[in-house]
Amino acid sequence: MNWEKSVFQEINQELLDFLDRSPTSFHAVANMGRMLKNAGFERLLEGKAWQIKSGGRYYVTRNNSALIAFHMPEQDFAGFQIMASHSDSPALKIKDNAEIQVEKKYVKLNVEKYGGMLCAPWLDRPLSVAGRVVARTSKGVEEKLVHVDRDLMIIPNLAIHMNRKVNEGYEFNAQKDLLPLFGDGEAVNGFKGLIAKEAGVDEKDILDMDLFLYNRMKGTLLGLNGEFIAAPHLDDLQCAFASLKGFLGAEPARSVAVCCVLDNEEVGSGTKQGADSTFLKDVLHRINGAMGRTEEEYLMALSSSFMVSADNAHSIHPNQPDKGDPTNRPFMNDGIVIKYSANQKYTTDAVSGALFKSICEKAGVPCQVFFNRSDMPGGSTLGNISNSQVALNTVDIGLPQLAMHSCYETAGSKDTLYLAEAARVFYSSTMHSEGDGAYQIL
Ligand code: ZN
Repeated sequence: MNWEKSVFQEINQELLDFLDRSPTSFHAVANMGRMLKNAGFERLLEGKAWQIKSGGRYYVTRNNSALIAFHMPEQDFAGFQIMASHSDSPALKIKDNAEIQVEKKYVKLNVEKYGGMLCAPWLDRPLSVAGRVVARTSKGVEEKLVHVDRDLMIIPNLAIHMNRKVNEGYEFNAQKDLLPLFGDGEAVNGFKGLIAKEAGVDEKDILDMDLFLYNRMKGTLLGLNGEFIAAPHLDDLQCAFASLKGFLGAEPARSVAVCCVLDNEEVGSGTKQGADSTFLKDVLHRINGAMGRTEEEYLMALSSSFMVSADNAHSIHPNQPDKGDPTNRPFMNDGIVIKYSANQKYTTDAVSGALFKSICEKAGVPCQVFFNRSDMPGGSTLGNISNSQVALNTVDIGLPQLAMHSCYETAGSKDTLYLAEAARVFYSSTMHSEGDGAYQIL
């Protein structure tokens, strides 16, 4: 497909704006909820009965950090067309009783690591804090989003004069090296007050908090022709955003279109809002039940369903090209990456790979292939974890990027559009199978 440069720029500007407003998974989900609401989707609550109609459009959140949206076809449905990505990224999380005084001259904050991060990029740059507090309000105990939208803290490096060997490799001690400087001696007891003010509650009413540091450096397009996008949280908000864009632009034919953004992938997906939870299964069951269908019909629908697990992938690195597989060489802007692993860390097999390639062909977007080097274990993702709850044909894909798990990552700007377009076509299609080894894409 041949798109104008302005089309690539438009979707990436929208993505940059989304990333800027999404410093944590809570904010990402709130922003996606807003996009869905603006597109006419109705919010369902897990604690209330669901009235679902053919042709209806709905979304539901769990923990305010995971979201599932679905669009019913006009006729009785055949199966589910599901795409799943994740809302969280590695970050430093603020502990309770966070303030630590240093010789009455500094106040620093006590933090711990969330997920497997590259530590070095967090140093020597403006940082701030975002997340949620839970406070006593007139409603009882209530969650409030917090985003301190200004340069607030820094984690300073040690001068090279005090560690001459630092450039030969450095092992970061999270309890010692990664604590952000919050203020001078005057800042003592100021942290909780600042958070209370941002949350619009009284300091004494704050009962608990989930707060994370985030990188203040805004995302941007770079490269000679703006061909790269560099920003925080590209893994995995680039996939979450692109799949939601495709979802919003799709008209489901015979299957329910399901857009899933789950939390806690970076720490193993084992929470109630993660891929290893019942969230997706619960939603699919409730859709099935609300449409007056039996358990048998639910299982038949699953056999005619397909899942795309979309989580960013590694591009070949310009300075370390030998870290990639010798024959499968994914590059940024060369299209969607299909991920394979013989030990099934990725769910892709010949069937799901072939079906996804057919979707890309139908959408007119390029795709490419990723394997780990055979002497490197590589990472994991959410496809196989989700399959232990909802078992269906699944492919693991992602967009190629550099510096995965840095707090500032780089990806291809064309690839954002490729995924949005493949998602639109995927959600408008029906991948039908009766379990006999033959598949149709309708
Ligand atoms: Zn990821």
